Amino acid sequence: MSGPGAGDFDVAIIGGGINGTGVARDAAMRGLKVILFERNDIAFGASGNSSGMIHGGPRYLTDDPEVTRTSCLDSGFIQKIAPHLLFRVPFLMPLGPEGTEQTHIALVDAFFEAYDRYQPLKNGKPHARLTPDELYELEPGLFGGRSDKPARLSGGITFDEWGIDGVRLCVANAIDAIERGASIRTHTSVETILREPGGRVRGVRAENRTTGESLVVGARAVVNATGAWSPLLARAAGISPESARVRPGKGIHVVFDRRLTNYAIIAKAIDDRQIFIEPWQNVTVLGTIDDDFYGDPDDVRATTDEVRYLVEAITRVLPAVADARAIGTTAGLRPTLYEYGPNEDALSRDHRVVDHAKDGARGLFSMIGGKLASYRIFAEQMTDALIRHLDVPATPCRTHVAPLPGGEHAASRSALVEATGIDAVAAVRLAYRHGARAERIAERIRSNPLEASVVCPCEPVIEAEVRHVVRHEMAASVDDVARRTRLGLGSCGGMRCAARCGQIVAEECGFEPRAGARLALRFLVRQAKTRAVAVGPAQASQEALIVSSLRSELGPLFEEEP
Ligand SMILES: Cc1cc2nc3c(=O)[nH]c(=O)nc-3n(C[C@H](O)[C@H](O)[C@H](O)COP(=O)(O)OP(=O)(O)OC[C@H]3O[C@@H](n4cnc5c(N)ncnc54)[C@H](O)[C@@H]3O)c2cc1C
Repeated sequence: MSGPGAGDFDVAIIGGGINGTGVARDAAMRGLKVILFERNDIAFGASGNSSGMIHGGPRYLTDDPEVTRTSCLDSGFIQKIAPHLLFRVPFLMPLGPEGTEQTHIALVDAFFEAYDRYQPLKNGKPHARLTPDELYELEPGLFGGRSDKPARLSGGITFDEWGIDGVRLCVANAIDAIERGASIRTHTSVETILREPGGRVRGVRAENRTTGESLVVGARAVVNATGAWSPLLARAAGISPESARVRPGKGIHVVFDRRLTNYAIIAKAIDDRQIFIEPWQNVTVLGTIDDDFYGDPDDVRATTDEVRYLVEAITRVLPAVADARAIGTTAGLRPTLYEYGPNEDALSRDHRVVDHAKDGARGLFSMIGGKLASYRIFAEQMTDALIRHLDVPATPCRTHVAPLPGGEHAASRSALVEATGIDAVAAVRLAYRHGARAERIAERIRSNPLEASVVCPCEPVIEAEVRHVVRHEMAASVDDVARRTRLGLGSCGGMRCAARCGQIVAEECGFEPRAGARLALRFLVRQAKTRAVAVGPAQASQEALIVSSLRSELGPLFEEEP
């Protein structure tokens, strides 16, 4: 695809996070001819590294109630279209002792009464006020146990949220867009947004980062859905980066190897900011910070300081975390609306469609701000703007009622076990990630029973799923498979499964076997870098030794990451 004139596509979308894939789906459903470019992989950025709560955010209720309402409303819709990807996250907020909320319990109670009004929108239960004894009944490990109960513990609040796997949500939107005619190019970076002499956009020039191939496509509209990268894309269109300015806020999570608690628990950090620990699928995540970020958005990693800040805060409320096994970190950049002055966590989580006609670039739009929880409505507003700009017949949005791939019906776990012989845990995880489409993976196993073999024992992930995500979900490396399946993200960090996964990816993509080893090594190097700050120096140096011996075995075949 190179050198065609304007009009090849109605719209070129830049960015394969939740906003880009959300627009790709909506626009394709409404009959537009869509192409999407993602510089890295689907969900590489904030969307794949978020806390995954599709909530209204009680925090925003006082300053931004409309954000809370919109997010709760959209959460209700997301739950309907992707029921397989949900998990319940009941929260506990202990009140009273030093290090947690000091405010009088009655005041907090009243605040949550206001939040309760939005709960029906997202199928949440109303909050409940708890005595100290009730708190301990729910989470006996609080403050080191009931016998060490702090004198000033006055009880607490429990409230209800829903969690979702942000990566799977992006992938489901992308797959649906493809099945409705969209074209999606991953690992392909838009370098220039092309414009006619009068200023109107006419397409984009992109480069495939794996092959080096350069391509030009024509498009009558271009959507900049690159989150924290947005100002860079404004520059690539030849307009001021200020016109798509965001205030990128770095957020991280520390990941523990199992569910440490069945409740998300809120605590206060040393600087009085709120942090939380959350059971997340079959692990636990501790998060998060919110700090202004001035570095390279392609290379965001948690630091030792950030990990210590979070662990210090949570151990005041749940001391057992100090002895729990941290196995990794995640990091991402919130593309928050720009404002000079407020602290990062006081910034609005609202979103905005910016029409760059005002900057002389007619046909170029930027999606700025937002939340995972309100992505669908943001995508709908963006698609409405595209329909107006392209002057095509208005078609109503249906993304709130049409199920995402896999969301059509629940896969029966016992039927999966019966049909494939895989163990119940693997079947549960498969049904969670793929919903009704787990049946397609089971079908593969029926045709080739050897594909029931377990590749990643920690998660677990079976061979048929790895092959499925390469063939049908655009995975082209071990990193891509890990993002979609959580392969290699458990305790061993991929030491036991990366090589086998690399082999399978190489087979499926028609690469030579050494390429599979190279993909495995790349994954392990990246894992070692993100794990080192969590696992501690002894394990980190063991992992570094193994990785460097593998690297010297592969020698010149291994290209150093930039
Ligand atoms: C730690 C953390 C926790 C969060 N928790 C929550 C939560 O619990 N609930 C909630 O609702 N929200 C949460 N958020 C916010 C939410 O994740 C973001 O608002 C949302 O994911 C932003 O999506 P996006 O598509 O705009 O950006 P991104 O997901 O960052 O996607 C942008 C994409 O653009 C691509 N790109 C960049 N440049 C180019 C180029 N030149 N060519 C092609 N592609 C390019 C990038 O590779 C990237 O994949 C959290 C965010 C963070 C960081």
